Amino acid sequence: MPYGPDDSQRGDRGKDEARIAELVGRMSVAEKFGQLQQLAWNGETGPGGGQNALVAGAARAGRLGSVLNLHGARETNALQRIAVEESPLGIPLVFGLDVVHGFWTTFPIPLAQAASFDPAVAAADAEVSAAEARAHGVHWTFAPMADVTREPRWGRIAESSGEDVYLTSVLTAAKVRGYQGPNGPAAPDRLAACAKHFAAYGAVEGGRDYNTVDVSWQRLRNVYLPPFRAAVEAGAATVMAAFTTVNGVPAHAHRELLDGVLRGEWGFDGVVVSDWGGVHELMVHGLAADGADAARLAFTAGLDMEMAGTHLAENGPRLLDAGLISEERLDEAVVRVLRLKSRLGLFERPYVEERAAPSGPTAATRAAARRAAARCAVLLKNDGGVLPLRRTGGSLAVVGPYADSPDLHGTWAGPGESRFPARSVLESLSEAAPGLDIRYAGCGEEAVAAAEGAEAVLVVVGEPSALSGEASSRADLRLPPEQERLIAQVADTGRPFAVVVVAGRPLVVEEWIDRAPAVLLAWHGGIEAGPALADVLLGDVPPGGKLPATLPRSVGQLPLSYDHERTGRPADPDHPDRPFTSGYLDLPHGPRFPFGHGLSYTEFAISAPRCASPGIAVADLAAGRRIEITAEVTNTGTRSGDEVVQLYVHDPVASQVQPVRRLRGFERVTLRPGESAEVRFPLGAEDLGFHTANSTEPVLEPGRIEVYVGADSRATARLDLTLTG
Ligand code: BGC
Repeated sequence: MPYGPDDSQRGDRGKDEARIAELVGRMSVAEKFGQLQQLAWNGETGPGGGQNALVAGAARAGRLGSVLNLHGARETNALQRIAVEESPLGIPLVFGLDVVHGFWTTFPIPLAQAASFDPAVAAADAEVSAAEARAHGVHWTFAPMADVTREPRWGRIAESSGEDVYLTSVLTAAKVRGYQGPNGPAAPDRLAACAKHFAAYGAVEGGRDYNTVDVSWQRLRNVYLPPFRAAVEAGAATVMAAFTTVNGVPAHAHRELLDGVLRGEWGFDGVVVSDWGGVHELMVHGLAADGADAARLAFTAGLDMEMAGTHLAENGPRLLDAGLISEERLDEAVVRVLRLKSRLGLFERPYVEERAAPSGPTAATRAAARRAAARCAVLLKNDGGVLPLRRTGGSLAVVGPYADSPDLHGTWAGPGESRFPARSVLESLSEAAPGLDIRYAGCGEEAVAAAEGAEAVLVVVGEPSALSGEASSRADLRLPPEQERLIAQVADTGRPFAVVVVAGRPLVVEEWIDRAPAVLLAWHGGIEAGPALADVLLGDVPPGGKLPATLPRSVGQLPLSYDHERTGRPADPDHPDRPFTSGYLDLPHGPRFPFGHGLSYTEFAISAPRCASPGIAVADLAAGRRIEITAEVTNTGTRSGDEVVQLYVHDPVASQVQPVRRLRGFERVTLRPGESAEVRFPLGAEDLGFHTANSTEPVLEPGRIEVYVGADSRATARLDLTLTG
C-alpha cells in the first residue's frame, strides 16, 4: 500500500516507479545512504555557520535526503536549489517540521482537540496547518501523535488525544486525512503526515519522559497499537519510532514491531523515520557498542531514515561491504524515501512560490481556531448556574495569573507563537461584553479586594505552556499554592464565581473544587483561546467538550483510566456505578471526574440503546458486517446546547480478562430546546472483539456483549447483544 487511499492518479504511478528505479540504478552507495539522512537546520537564516554549511554541503554532494526545522519559502528554495541544481543527480530534498497544532494559526493543543470529541476540529487544524506550512516550504509534518497515555504526569499528554484507544484512533485518522488531503500531499496546500511515536511511548513508567516501557503484548495490541494502524489505514506517508524501549528493546531497534507488525501485518510501505538522535540513543540505551552497531540494529529492524544523526550515512557503506546489511534492504529504504518525494510532487515542483503565502493568520483561519477552541472547553461543574456570565448591567471581577496572560498557545506551537500573541481572556471578555463592568486584578490582596467589590468573579488559573510537552513531566499536578489560595479567598468572599483552568493536562483539583461553584477546563486553547473563552463564558457558544482523560483525585492514583481490566473483586452493591473495588484506604474511590465527563448549559436526556435485531453471528462480523445500535438524545433544557452521546461495550465472559468498558462510538450533536436527534453506531468486529498477545485480527467469541450509551464513561443505560457461534 505504498500510496494509500489518496492514490488517485494510478496512471502516473507506473511512471513514478520507473523514474525511481532508474534513479536508484544511477545512485552510488554513498548517495543511497545520503537519501536516508535527515539533518537539522539550526535556526540561522542563511546557509552560513557551521551546521548549516554542513547541511548545504551534504545537499550539494547529493548526500542528504531531508532537512528538518527549516521553513520559509525563500529559505527552503535556496537550499532546494542547491540539491536540485548543483548535486549530481538533482534529487530534491524533503523538508520536515513539527507542525503539531498550527503553523501561523495555533489551534488548541491536541489533548484539547480530543476534548471536542469532534473529528472535524482535528481535521480543521490539520487543513489550516498544512496550507500554511506548505506555502512556506514545509512538505512533511511530524504529526499526528498517535500515542495513547494514561499518565497526566507525562508532559507529552498535551500532544496526545488522551487515554482512549478509540478516540485516539478516530482523531489520528482525521488528522492524517486533513494533512494529506483527499488528492494526496502533492497538492500545494497539503503535507505528508507522520504517525508518532511507534510504539507505546505514552506508557512510560511513572509518566517520566523517555522512561522504560514494559507492557504486555495483549495491551499493546488492544490499546497502544490501534491508533497507529488507523493512521496507516488512513494513508499516513510516514511513521516515527519512539525514543523508548518496549519490553527491553528500544523501539528504534524493535524488529518485531517495525518489521513484524508495521510492515508485515499492516503492510505499511511508507518511510519509517527515527526520532531526533534516536539511532544514537541505541548506544545510550546500552544496546549498541558504537555508531556502526547502532546503525545496523536500527536499519535491519526496519528504520529507513535517520533524523538528526549521521550514524547510518557514515557507517552504512562499511556495513554493506561487510555484509551486515543487504543491498536489497538499502534499495528498499531508498525507494521509500524517493516515493515520499514523488508522492509530494517534488520531482515536478521542488520549489514553492515565494510571494504567494500569507505571512500570518487570516480572518478565516482565526475564525476556525476560535471555533475549535470553543468546542474544546469542558464544563466540569456549574452549580447554581453561575455560568454563563451575565452580559450587561453588573460588575465582574476578573482575577488570577492567567486572566490577562497571552500564554495560551500551548506546547509545540509553530512559528506563529512568537509573532502572534494570543489575546487574553480579559481583553476578549471586555471586547465581547462592553456593557459589563469588568474589574481586573491579577493576584494577591488586590485580586481579593476586586472580588469582594464585584457581583460575580471569574478566576483564571493554570499552568504555563512550558510545563507540558516534551521533557516536561510533573510529579505534582496541583495548581501552585498561591493559585489555590486565591480560589479559597475568592470563595470566602461569598460571591458567586467561576474558575477557568488553562492547562496542558488534567490537573489535580481536589483541594479547591468543592468550593468552586463552576469550573471550565479550557486547556491551552491556541491563538484564539481568549475570544473562544469569551464566547463560551458569555453563552454565545455552548460548552460541549468532554474529558479525553480521567481527572484523578490524586497523583497517587496514577496511572488511572476508565477502561481498566476487571479485577477479581466484585462491584460494590452500594455503588453500582463503581464496577470494581480496587482503590486506596486514604482516598475516596475512583477519579474526581470520569473519562467522557462534561456538562452543558442545558440538560439532555439520552434514551437506552436500541437495536432492531440484537444478535449477529461472529462469522458475519468477521466477514465485515456491522450491527447498528441507535439512541435518541433530547435537549430537555431551555437553551441550545451540545451533547456527546457515547457508546461503550463490555464483554462479561471472555477467554481473556476484559476492560470494564471500552468506548466504541461517539457523536457530538447540537440541539435546540425540545429538539431530539437519533444517533447511530455501527459496531463491527474490532468493536465487539478483542486482541490477544498474538492476534492480528480481533478475536470474536460467541456470547453476550453489554452495550452502554450515555453522556460519559459511567453510562448505565444498557442493551445486551448476542454474538452467535
Ligand atoms: C520529538 C519528536 C519530534 C522531533 C523533531 C523529538 O525530540 O520526540 O516528536 O518530532 O523531536 O523535532
